[in-house]
Amino acid sequence: MPISQAPYTRKYAHTASRGHESLVTCGYCGRQVPRYKTFIKFRGFRITDPTILQQVDRNDIHMGRQKMYVCPSCARFHKIVQRGKTVQKKHQARR
Ligand SMILES: [Zn+2]
Repeated sequence: MPISQAPYTRKYAHTASRGHESLVTCGYCGRQVPRYKTFIKFRGFRITDPTILQQVDRNDIHMGRQKMYVCPSCARFHKIVQRGKTVQKKHQARR
């Protein structure tokens, strides 16, 4: 059996909030998912047009931002990737 060490420790990182898991609603499918399982996505518009940016106050731009929770299955479907929750590190280490 070949010895290969993963560049990360395999653990169930869910100890801090054990006991009281708050359920959140997925922004895509509306399912109730434990919050630690969800991905956080900021929904909102981003103004890229420089002419509009000059006219609009900066505070107004951030008003369109809305925090949204996405369940793992929807995150996979919509290709939402969050740092630390994927095996991306595994592939980055290889060169
Ligand atoms: Zn979902």
